[in-house]
Order: sequence, then structure tokens, then C-alpha cells
Amino acid sequence: MKSNKKTMINEQLIKRGIHDQKLIDAFKKVPREAFLEDDLKQYAYVDSPLTIGNNQTISQPYMVAYMSEALDLKNTDKVLEIGTGSGYQTAILAELVNEVYTIERIKNLSDKAQTVLHSMNYDNIHFIIGNGTKGYKDVAPYDKTIVTAAATDVPHALFNQLANNGKLIMPVGERFIQDLMLYEKKDDTLYKSNLGGCRFVPLINH
Ligand code: SAH
Repeated sequence: MKSNKKTMINEQLIKRGIHDQKLIDAFKKVPREAFLEDDLKQYAYVDSPLTIGNNQTISQPYMVAYMSEALDLKNTDKVLEIGTGSGYQTAILAELVNEVYTIERIKNLSDKAQTVLHSMNYDNIHFIIGNGTKGYKDVAPYDKTIVTAAATDVPHALFNQLANNGKLIMPVGERFIQDLMLYEKKDDTLYKSNLGGCRFVPLINH
């Protein structure tokens, strides 16, 4: 069934427990269709991931919201995102925090995301093309890190570049089924919680 933004926000986000008003306002503002190819724009508010080319997907709206809410984003946060993809999650982050550093290994996808996000006048997004498993040391540490691709373990560089009291969220597991894991770093100890099953495209280690 096709849907619209308002229905998506009510049925897929609020009814499933998303309640952070600033996050909901960000979803009201950002048009998901802008991040899709022309033939898929009509499906922008369906309850699922969609293809964005290069064998990659734009995440399901609920997953974008759920991961964002779990990170407890503050407007003072500096956030590292691994897997720019379409740039939709990047836009939601940029609505809520001070600075977003987003890494994508496929230049074509980063280029497309940059064009869309620049047209929306975001000036707090920094794009990096490269292997995100190494993080981005230049401006570390990060208050929050979000990885939107899955691997069997969290890359060590990402933990190292996380601030004290920082949070990192990432799907961890096998190729076709993972658990969404939330890590919190406190005085060099990592606390983790399992937020449940999920399915993401793989995090490529090069
Ligand atoms: N948040 C994005 C999700 C895109 S899918 C969206 O909603 O549009 C995950 C993305 O991670 C893909 O674009 C893939 O190319 C990228 N990716 C996979 N491994 C990576 C790596 N090592 N470094 C950077 N990006 C990576």
C-alpha cells in the first residue's frame, strides 16, 4: 500500500513507540522521496527499505527513527555515521545535532547524497568517501556513532573514536540476520544492550 509522510509518521513511527518530539519533527521536515530514484518516489513512505542502486538500500523509516531515538541525540552532539547511502538518515541526524560526519565507500552514492543534501542547504554535514571501518580520526572523539551496515563485530577504530559517555549503535551478526546492538562507553568500559533482530546490508571491510 502506498502511503504519505503524515500517515507514515503516525502509523509506522508513533504507533510503534517513537515519541521524541524533535525526532518526529525531523521526519515531518525531511522528504524521503528526494533520496529515491524517480520511479521509486511514489513508494517513499512505504514501511520498508528500498533499493538505491549499487546493490544498496535506503533503510526502513522506522529503523531510521528507532536507531536515532536509541542514540538519545542532543543538539550539541558530534555524530559519526558509517554508510551514507541515500543520505536520508544523514538528513534526520543533521536536523537534530550540531555536526554530522558521514562516510560512504561507494563514490557514486556519496555524490548523489551530497547533491540532495546540499540542495536542502544543510551546512553541518561533512562527507567522507572511504572505508568507514577505520572511522575518521581527524575530528574524533564522537558523542554518538551510527553504523547502518552489518558486521560480525564492531570495528575497533569506532570504539576508540567514541567519546567517554558516548553511544554507538550498529547491527551485529551474520549476513542475513543481525541484532541491533547499542554500546555505551563509560570510563573505558563498554556496556551493551541488545535491541532486537534486524537485517542490514553488509559492512564491507575495505
Ligand atoms: N543510512 C543509509 C543506509 C544505506 S545502506 C540510508 O538509509 O540510505 C548501507 C551503506 O553502507 C551502503 O551505502 C554501503 O555502501 C555502505 N557501506 C558498507 N560498508 C561500508 C564501509 N566500510 N564504509 C563506508 N560505507 C560502507
